[in-house]
Amino acid sequence: MKGLVLDAEWQPRPDYPLSDWERRTGKAITGSSIWRYPKLEVRDWPDPTPGPRDVVLAVQACGVCGSDMHFYETDADGYILYPGLTKFPTILGHEFSGRVVEVGSQVETLKVGDMVTAEEMIWCGRCIPCRNGYPNHCLNLEEIGFTIPGAFAQFIAVDEKYCWKIDALAERFGSEETAFEVGALTEPSCVAYNAIFTRAGGFKPGHYVSVFGAGPIGLASIGLAKAAGAGIIAAFEVSPPRRALAKAVGADFVFDPREVSPSAVLMELSKGEGFNVHVEAAGAPHLTVPEMEKALAINGRIVQIGRAAQRVPLYLETLQVRRSQLFGAQGHSGHENFPNVIRLVAAGRLDLRPIITARYGLQDTVNAIARSVERTDGKILVKPNQSEER
Ligand SMILES: [Zn+2]
Ligand SMILES: [Zn+2]
Repeated sequence: MKGLVLDAEWQPRPDYPLSDWERRTGKAITGSSIWRYPKLEVRDWPDPTPGPRDVVLAVQACGVCGSDMHFYETDADGYILYPGLTKFPTILGHEFSGRVVEVGSQVETLKVGDMVTAEEMIWCGRCIPCRNGYPNHCLNLEEIGFTIPGAFAQFIAVDEKYCWKIDALAERFGSEETAFEVGALTEPSCVAYNAIFTRAGGFKPGHYVSVFGAGPIGLASIGLAKAAGAGIIAAFEVSPPRRALAKAVGADFVFDPREVSPSAVLMELSKGEGFNVHVEAAGAPHLTVPEMEKALAINGRIVQIGRAAQRVPLYLETLQVRRSQLFGAQGHSGHENFPNVIRLVAAGRLDLRPIITARYGLQDTVNAIARSVERTDGKILVKPNQSEER
């Protein structure tokens, strides 16, 4: 089959303390300190062979994520920008949907023809964090499209336990093609859902929600806040097309954060009371969190989703005086995240179709990732299987 393969050279930076585990497994914990000179190319890759509990999916849609962009972009020394867990060469792509075309001998919950999406985090279920109910913090994590082959490919094998059926989406939209496209948005939507509702405990209907950054995660956050009954949703985003998308999925007010004082705007909108929930989806917390801090409602919450290797000035006294809290969130697995997001979409309460702004065939995946670097799109999709023939 064909897939978008990323290869790079294992060249730990001279000042990087390479661990024995990294040496032994060939996995980089901090990818941006080890992988140099990335090469992305659509090329032949062995067909996946399913294990007993795996299903093989013919991939129908796979979204380009910010992390894919950070594999494509390098720093001045040629290192990838993505700072997380990685093992190359592998096929990229982790926000996907597909149709089951083959099932392993022990698969019980899925059959050939089923429409599914899947988690990206291959949590082990055996380590202490997994056993304690924290799969997003698994100690033996494999990640689809980061450490094991991903879904910018014609086919992918996934254990059935990470798959979630999306046939209800086909019923909602009256189109399997739309269901697959929207199904590929499930993973990033679950990142937002996990952060706002699972980690931070959500908010009461009527509460005011701010979202900093209207990339795909921020846009999903806006759609979810709308579905959950936010009283006002205010978004901050530098890109004009993304500001328009923020409105399209439910933001009441959208601002360019370079042209206003975000905290002043939020205090004005809330008549001095502050916002109840602040979502950081910009990956620039050194700029956004100080603004959130100045616009915290009493019992307000700050939810950190964006990734940034950055220290943040935060006056803790404010958290005390405003009885406020700060939540760190990572991942999307467990905690009913996937089924609840799929329910919201199937019910018509979360409709992120407007955020799909471009579609590419598998052969053009590198162009799709190159386009994402402009940071003006919502979600760019790659659609690998026009035909499902192997
Ligand atoms: Zn992603
Ligand atoms: Zn685990």
